[in-house]
Amino acid sequence: MNKGSKLYEGKAKILYETKDKNLVIQHFKDDATAFNNLKKAKVEGKGVLNNRISEYILTNLAQCGIKTHFVKRLNMREQLIKKAEIFPIEFIVRNIATGSLTKRLDISEGTVLERPLLEYCYKKDQLQDPLISKEHIYSFGWATETEINQIDKMTLRINDLLLGIFRGIGIKLVDFKIEYGKTWNKDTDEKEIVLADEISPDTCRLWDVKTEKKLDKDRFRKDLGNVIQGYQEVARRLGIMPEETNISEVNFGKTTSIKFKKK
Ligand code: 5GP
Repeated sequence: MNKGSKLYEGKAKILYETKDKNLVIQHFKDDATAFNNLKKAKVEGKGVLNNRISEYILTNLAQCGIKTHFVKRLNMREQLIKKAEIFPIEFIVRNIATGSLTKRLDISEGTVLERPLLEYCYKKDQLQDPLISKEHIYSFGWATETEINQIDKMTLRINDLLLGIFRGIGIKLVDFKIEYGKTWNKDTDEKEIVLADEISPDTCRLWDVKTEKKLDKDRFRKDLGNVIQGYQEVARRLGIMPEETNISEVNFGKTTSIKFKKK
């Protein structure tokens, strides 16, 4: 699949056109940012791992009936996805209180929530992605009530499935952020809502069940060190990286030598 011109460059990913107007290439960069771009760094190998982890998770979700934008992985850093009109909303699910929730409402860190908490944020860097209510979404036409009802159901189902996937490998899914878009379904000739963007340690909080060690982007945000080792541990436990591979020891130049298990 030949890469066309750049459509969009975000903080962690780039989208390229393809010859097919309904498909785009999603490229995963090594760039890490936090606190509204105030903190920036390159985390070598992060893009490779997120490409692989997100492929694994979205493929598993699709097998359970969740519609996603993912088509196929093309190489170490790129995947083919369906072009989607992205809702300007971040959908956040929390199972355990941490991060902005604890600060905003003075909830104790680590409180296990009685039921998953759904939050909506307006995707707007200049405003630091503010928390919004459903009424804001409807008032400003960011999505309709019917669309949000469908998305809420999908989001809770995704949470259940992800909780299972991660619990099975000794990881607590603390919280995560997902995005949705509308794509054209060629079979029905109608637009449909699909899970878009990525699901990876960049977008989830993942704690080891026994030690509560953080295996996600909080290692970068909080300067905990060993950022890539956290992501690598998630990949290893998911079974998509052989035990012996240590990503910090491989060269991420033009010819990268990281090896993954074949599917
Ligand atoms: P919090 O609101 O506590 O900062 O984040 C809640 C969850 O959503 C965390 O898992 C966090 O990683 C994810 N999240 C929220 N906003 C963003 C964002 O702008 N980018 C990414 N990658 N993740 C986000």
